[in-house]
Amino acid sequence: ASPANTHVRMVLTSPLGDVPVPKTDLLTYLFPSNAAISEDPIWLDARDPENSLSPKQLLQWVKRLAIGLDRLAIREQEAVMILTPNHIFVPAAYLGIVGSRRIFSAANPIYTEQELSHQLSNTGSRVVLVHPSLLETAIGAAKKCGLPLEHIFQFSDRPTAPVMGILDWRAMLGSPEEAEAYHWKPMTPSESAKTVATVNYSSGTTGLPKGVCVSHLNIIANTQQTIAIKFHGFPYGEKDHPPERWLGFLPLYHAYGQLWCMVMAIKLNIPIYVMKQFNFVPFLENIQKYKITDLQTAPPILVMLSKRPETAQYDISTVKHILCGAAPLSRELQNDITKRFNIRVTQGWGMTEVTCGAMHVPFSADDDTGSVGLLDPGMECLLLDDDGKEVGPGEPGEIFVRGENVCLGYWKNEEATRDSLSEDGWLKTGDIAVVDKKGWFWIVDRKKELIKVNALQVAPAELEAALLEHDEIADAACVGITLHSEEWPRGYVVRKAGSTITEEEIHRFMKEKVAKHKQLVGGIVFIDEVPKLASGKIIRKLLKEWAKRDASIL
Ligand code: AMP
Repeated sequence: ASPANTHVRMVLTSPLGDVPVPKTDLLTYLFPSNAAISEDPIWLDARDPENSLSPKQLLQWVKRLAIGLDRLAIREQEAVMILTPNHIFVPAAYLGIVGSRRIFSAANPIYTEQELSHQLSNTGSRVVLVHPSLLETAIGAAKKCGLPLEHIFQFSDRPTAPVMGILDWRAMLGSPEEAEAYHWKPMTPSESAKTVATVNYSSGTTGLPKGVCVSHLNIIANTQQTIAIKFHGFPYGEKDHPPERWLGFLPLYHAYGQLWCMVMAIKLNIPIYVMKQFNFVPFLENIQKYKITDLQTAPPILVMLSKRPETAQYDISTVKHILCGAAPLSRELQNDITKRFNIRVTQGWGMTEVTCGAMHVPFSADDDTGSVGLLDPGMECLLLDDDGKEVGPGEPGEIFVRGENVCLGYWKNEEATRDSLSEDGWLKTGDIAVVDKKGWFWIVDRKKELIKVNALQVAPAELEAALLEHDEIADAACVGITLHSEEWPRGYVVRKAGSTITEEEIHRFMKEKVAKHKQLVGGIVFIDEVPKLASGKIIRKLLKEWAKRDASIL
């Protein structure tokens, strides 16, 4: 994977220069010892804003959780998993786990038992904090992985009575008095760079989902970079920005939600109204009710804003800026939103492996070209063709990036780490972009296998493995198909000799195996043979061509 080469590389650097990155731990970065800690609510439950947490309250919960995990003898760099829809205590769990040098691993709340047990055993999570509505899935997965049920705790924003012997997480926390006396030890620069904070799952450029090891330093660097692009060019800075109000619907199990709705919100002290999950009408209601000023979104949300009739029934005029990332956004849609609602819409590009983002249009800039913007401060980039040579301005090339926000590698998977990260720090992204002479980037294609459904990752290899678990399926290959501008997984399936299995039966089987966004909504096609190279590797390029051809006639 290494783009390192004998000739001198034409490395692209950020026109925004560099940004200082404090080399410490995340808690010290967010709560510097001499700074006052705000008592104003920052995470507010959008259904009941009386239910809220201020940074000061948060810090007490963080310390109480750290003490509780000490008592359970969870060691540094062991993982703790959370499985929950969004709520105001997720930031307390995140910082309690990360701040005490454990590893935060969050799972998608719609995961099946099989998906959850994979993540649980892969991370070796020692404790699970689970929302009461998801207890059954968590218990099933824990039993499969041999995790003692005494290490599962109900994790809601309200105290809960024990169910099936599972206690509320409050039962294992240290007391408020103990929290008073608790102090964490700030990290040295080398600890900050090496200590894993989070393990989120991503399939990278190929294969099954893998845990992405993100360090304290990675998160601090990416927060500093993102703050810089947010305030770049405005006559005010981070300290005196006009009051903002955010809406927290991005999933907190994903890197995007973690950086914006937890870390950025606290660093900038911006109140955020937390929604359990994204639902369009409540989203509009909350914008109107709480006079939301800024939104962090993905393209499907902008499609709804543009197309759904309900948009016209709500006052969204308080929104001044929308950031859009996580999947391709068409220029037409971007401009439609700007024109109709007088909202500046800017894009960013990123991936779990860069902590969150690596390119952004500075928030002060008016872009109507569909650009994903400039390299974030401190980032370096190479755009390479299939032969590993740099391409010139305007020519498509694969993005390789390097910077302090680039992850440490994949969790317990040296081979995948080697394939994606060169020794000198270059990350192979699998995304194809063009850049102009001034350093503005446009994403033009995706080279990797990844399918994005509703801006969420779907790894073809995972779907193929699930299909192969069926007794009547001899072989299978999956690929994304674009129908009505949206991407869906499509399966090409080889039946075993004599099998008459139907599409419906396969759909039913897959419902048991994988979460909703991974279903084969793009259709199932029976074929005689999966196209493969002599090495046994699926010829993915050909599959993409098939899907394109099929899309044109569907
Ligand atoms: P994730 O790790 O889930 O954030 O997914 C990262 C992938 O999402 C990237 O490698 C891209 O393929 C895609 N992606 C993220 N942002 C954009 C964007 N602005 N335009 C096009 N694709 C994007």
